Amino acid sequence: MSDLSTRDIKFLPGVGPKKAELFNKELKIFSFEDLLYYFPYKYIDRSRTYKIKEIDGNMPYIQLRGEILNFETQGEGKGRRLIARFSDGTGIIELVWFKGIKFIIEKYKPGIEYTLFGKPTRFGSKFNIAHPEIDPIDDIIDKAPGLQAYYSTTEKMKSHFLNSKAIQKIMYNLWKSINGPLPETLPAQVIARSQVIYLTEAIQNIHFPQSPDLLRKAQFRLKFEELFYLQLNILRFTRQRQKKLGGFRFDHIGDYFNNFYHQCLPFELTNAQKRVLREIRADVGSGKQMNRLLQGDVGSGKTLVALMSMLMAVDNGFQACLMAPTEILASQHYESISELVAPIGIHVELLTGSTRKKERERIHEGLLTGDVNLIIGTHALIENTVLFSNLGLVVIDEQHRFGVEQRARLWKKNNRPPHILVMTATPIPRTLAMTVYGDLDVSVIDELPPGRKPIQTIHQYDNKRGALYASIRKQIEMGRQIYIVYPLIQESERSDLKNLEDGFKHIQEVFPEFKVCMVHGKMKPAEKDAEMQKFVSGEAHIMVATTVIEVGVNVPNASVMIIENAERFGLSQLHQLRGRVGRGADQSYCILMTSHKLSQETRKRLEIMVRTNDGFEISEADLQLRGPGDMEGTQQSGIAFDLKIANIAKDGQILQLARDIANEILDKDPELSLTENYVLNRQLQKIFKKKINWSLIS
Ligand code: ADP
Ligand code: MG
Repeated sequence: MSDLSTRDIKFLPGVGPKKAELFNKELKIFSFEDLLYYFPYKYIDRSRTYKIKEIDGNMPYIQLRGEILNFETQGEGKGRRLIARFSDGTGIIELVWFKGIKFIIEKYKPGIEYTLFGKPTRFGSKFNIAHPEIDPIDDIIDKAPGLQAYYSTTEKMKSHFLNSKAIQKIMYNLWKSINGPLPETLPAQVIARSQVIYLTEAIQNIHFPQSPDLLRKAQFRLKFEELFYLQLNILRFTRQRQKKLGGFRFDHIGDYFNNFYHQCLPFELTNAQKRVLREIRADVGSGKQMNRLLQGDVGSGKTLVALMSMLMAVDNGFQACLMAPTEILASQHYESISELVAPIGIHVELLTGSTRKKERERIHEGLLTGDVNLIIGTHALIENTVLFSNLGLVVIDEQHRFGVEQRARLWKKNNRPPHILVMTATPIPRTLAMTVYGDLDVSVIDELPPGRKPIQTIHQYDNKRGALYASIRKQIEMGRQIYIVYPLIQESERSDLKNLEDGFKHIQEVFPEFKVCMVHGKMKPAEKDAEMQKFVSGEAHIMVATTVIEVGVNVPNASVMIIENAERFGLSQLHQLRGRVGRGADQSYCILMTSHKLSQETRKRLEIMVRTNDGFEISEADLQLRGPGDMEGTQQSGIAFDLKIANIAKDGQILQLARDIANEILDKDPELSLTENYVLNRQLQKIFKKKINWSLIS
């Protein structure tokens, strides 16, 4: 059979030059093969009509038959939606529309029998179906029974009669014209090990499912294959790089580390901190270059682990640097670290954008001669003028603020890449970490230092302010401090800034007896630091701020975090902000203030925040709600999520299987040179020939 990737779809029966152009432009489909790999986005089971009372938690698109009882609009502005109650005599389900409300009310009338298709979603004990497809009963009688595939198309295509149904017909023509088995794209041993079905059967059933069971198997096969090649590619490069580059060997633990451990450490390390230090120690002692992601929830004590890792570097005659995303955070790190290490005589410096020229030159000199052991700073550290004598370890705090490119620049500061430790308090779900940072080893601090009380989170409506202020007053009288955060979508937006300033004035009026300070991103660094300092020193009782305080700031005495307009924040951001309290021994609170008008999704977000303090659970939920493309960290890192069928949020188990099998193969045949792996090589070349290899620059 001829190569499907070279056959132009314009020659496919039912396509022709005009439609071919639409396929090219709108869907980037050029060849028979492109079309074959254009998968349906849903299936509708036309063979069966369900009863409303049969609906349970985990159903695909289903068909119902019944009538609309009534319509009602709820909410306002962006949250406005139309709700219809739909009944078939066995129960009632709500239908929801967020768009086209007027059109729906005009088109569908209560009391007429309709067939309805949609995916039920559970909300509490009830179910609803958002944007169902509704047909009058007569229209569907002639429709084909069985599982029917639906393809997405664009408005432009639809206006040229290329709707889902038309694509279905073209797909049928394609399948008929291929008329034979497809060349298999997985080697026999992988098929056997993963127990997937053959490609031909999978492709046939993904477009024309013969049964729900075969459809599931087809989906499994194609998802597996997609994730498998992704993993094989990442892992292959990781292994090559580790072999080729090698890393600095920190072969002993010396006086700095030991003296610090025995003399300076103000508390016992948690077991998780000890475990992670052992993992890092094994890496840096191995002769390979370390590339490790350290995940630990806010307050879990990552900084200390970073510091002790840097001491390992210094013990072995290397320099180390710690890079933080903001000046405030860098100076906080600098202060706490220089205080901690003062007794062991290490030379620590701070370098930020506001370091004076003279000072800066002195530090540059010290780095070049090796006189400076530890340098803490911001982006200023990656400027070309900053050169090291022998940089052995780079620690990057709160990684999601640094792009891939910036990290790559740090690499270049040596003839050999230093060890890299990336710390993040925004836990990346495992599945995402495996895909995006397939080559990073991951350490997790999953334990908080003892004595911390879990933060209590409360969702409060705006009209309950009076009671809230009374409890704030009580907290301050007990000696605690309070954060109040306002959202700024863009720090340049004037109205937002006004919002903050009004809030500041209002709080000053409500609490005339207390000192209030204010911090936002539009301030000059010096001014910002001065305000910040008022709060850190305890002089100010209340800090009114924007999310500039989101990252890393440490004031253990602050016990209440109030977040205004909490509906305007994403889950990770809320969690990050909440992490600013609960750092001392007192009971802490996080109050999420909102109005009454909230969308379903916002309610879900708030519910999750109230329910759990677990950053991993929150980021998993975030991934489910928003999808990976929006996750913090992935956008900045510029990694495109153009998966055709697999879903990072949902297919974690398949991903794990794919990774395991990819590792097994590379263990046996690192170069993929065995005959049995011929197909793997061919597919990798085909799939990744245009893609950038991110694993080389993480
Ligand atoms: P994060 O992981 O959010 O960066 P930090 O490193 O800022 O957390 O640590 C939070 C607080 O916990 C700091 O005040 C730090 O001194 C303290 N801390 C860290 N490790 C321990 C420990 N093992 N026992 C008690 N307190 C600790
Ligand atoms: Mg931190």
